[in-house]
Amino acid sequence: MMVELIYDSSAVKKPVLVSVALEEGVLMNIIEAEVGAREGRIVVEIDDELADRVVTKFESHGVRVRKLIGTIEKGEACLDCGACISVCPVNVFRKDESERVIAETEKCVRCRICIEVCPVNALSLQE
Ligand code: SF4
Ligand code: SF4
Repeated sequence: MMVELIYDSSAVKKPVLVSVALEEGVLMNIIEAEVGAREGRIVVEIDDELADRVVTKFESHGVRVRKLIGTIEKGEACLDCGACISVCPVNVFRKDESERVIAETEKCVRCRICIEVCPVNALSLQE
């Protein structure tokens, strides 16, 4: 499961991510991170079976947690140009027999790279 960790000015000064990982003995894959002096936002991937326990632990450290359920969505504007195929780090996109680009959305790790390269803004992340 992908979760967004939202740090306020107090939580951002503490090593919460490392503390939770050590306390719960879990590995978390960091997908996105924007951390400043006053606030922060980190998206991590957590094993589904451990997610509820880990989320509760983050909340006990003063971090707000939002579960990210949605994945990438490809709209009607797609030109099948293939630009998203070459940049996606987890191979969500491929061409079918008709040279149409199709997306295996369940693989998406929400890195947003494809959104930036799509020439017609056909891609969006569901929230
Ligand atoms: S980059 Fe955009 S237009 Fe090109 S194949 Fe991907 S979704 Fe379609
Ligand atoms: S957001 Fe990242 S992981 Fe998801 S489809 Fe786009 S490039 Fe792939």
